[in-house]
Amino acid sequence: MNSPRDPRIAIVGAGLGGLTCARVLQRHGRSVTVFERDASPDARPQGGSLDLHTDTGQAALRSAGLLDRFHALARPEGDEWRVLDFATAALVAQQGPSGTGGRPEIDRGQLRGLLLDSVTEGTVRWDRAVSGVTPLADGTCRLLFGDGTAEDFDLVVGADGAWSRVRPALSHAVPGYTGVTFVETGFDRCDTRHPDLARLVGNGSMLAKGAGRTLVAQRNSNGHIRAYIALRAPQDWHVAAGIDLGDPRAVRTQLLRMFDDWDESLRYILRNSDNGFINRSLFVLPAPHTWEHVPGVTLLGDAAHLMPPVGLGANLAMLDGSDLAHALVTESSVGAAVRAYESLMLPRSVEAATGSAQGLDHLVPATAA
Ligand SMILES: Cc1cc2nc3c(=O)[nH]c(=O)nc-3n(C[C@H](O)[C@H](O)[C@H](O)COP(=O)(O)OP(=O)(O)OC[C@H]3O[C@@H](n4cnc5c(N)ncnc54)[C@H](O)[C@@H]3O)c2cc1C
Repeated sequence: MNSPRDPRIAIVGAGLGGLTCARVLQRHGRSVTVFERDASPDARPQGGSLDLHTDTGQAALRSAGLLDRFHALARPEGDEWRVLDFATAALVAQQGPSGTGGRPEIDRGQLRGLLLDSVTEGTVRWDRAVSGVTPLADGTCRLLFGDGTAEDFDLVVGADGAWSRVRPALSHAVPGYTGVTFVETGFDRCDTRHPDLARLVGNGSMLAKGAGRTLVAQRNSNGHIRAYIALRAPQDWHVAAGIDLGDPRAVRTQLLRMFDDWDESLRYILRNSDNGFINRSLFVLPAPHTWEHVPGVTLLGDAAHLMPPVGLGANLAMLDGSDLAHALVTESSVGAAVRAYESLMLPRSVEAATGSAQGLDHLVPATAA
């Protein structure tokens, strides 16, 4: 058995939360292994732009010693927001740019790359899908892999996102559909190819809301604009509409039909996107989601508190990772560290989940304002 000062720690998932935890542990001289299901860092696109808040995401990066490198990549002007009227595209409200740099935007891929580059080589074991976890009688934990192998650890950290394979060791909760689906699309080289849209979006984000339908467009780096077409609709909305999600032309035609009372400059997003459509049904864990402490295993990020994507999830995942790592280097045992971390993280995430549920209702209202 390893000494409490040198516990065997496994993190499941090389997302933003898991990597932040690994980086902070290594900064304090602790060993850690991250097991990731993806075959390589570039196995899939990492998604859109995130704004990192000073008290959460940026605080975690400070603990990780990466705040300066983050600011070198981030877009402070990206905190600008515009709200347009859906029927006329007239400006209804505007915020920023704040000029304070309080919530700079960064492409998620750049942020993950920053974290990945910061951990020592070999920390992440790629192509190692975890299938489950068994807490053992001596307070340690057995990690089970998809290929039938197993390894024992003093602590397993489930940082494996919405559909966590670690979570069942602690809780019976399963994510449920929110009633909202985001259909994602994008525009390349927008300043030259889509200048009117680029002007509409500005340096940050633009949104317009109708009854049960919202359009959000956000500027990413390299002249890319990512758009989310938010629908308050059954998860199988496309089945009822009789369209195949694999057929971009059919999706486009249906979306144009669903937004037929919207201003043409906003319908441009549906009509002229470059990148096809990705259907993202939004799921959340029931709130509050908590659990009784189980020795040798804990959760962070979406695995612990999957909530609607209204700007908090990545920030909280990183803060969780940093807080857990700090507890592990300051407390006298793994058990004491996990208890200290959970007593901080669980109440914080319950509050955030409640706020995020209200945030989603505000972002995609069922009825017109
Ligand atoms: C459309 C959209 C927009 C969003 N916008 C924002 C935003 O603007 N700001 C914000 O703060 N948050 C935002 N979020 C939320 C944010 O994406 C998540 O909260 C955040 O990514 C959670 O990080 P994580 O590390 O917990 O999990 P993830 O980022 O999901 O990482 C989990 C990792 O675990 C790996 N994994 C999964 N299963 C296994 C397994 N069985 N074995 C091994 N590895 C496994 C995955 O491959 C992945 O690498 C958004 C979410 C969505 C869907």
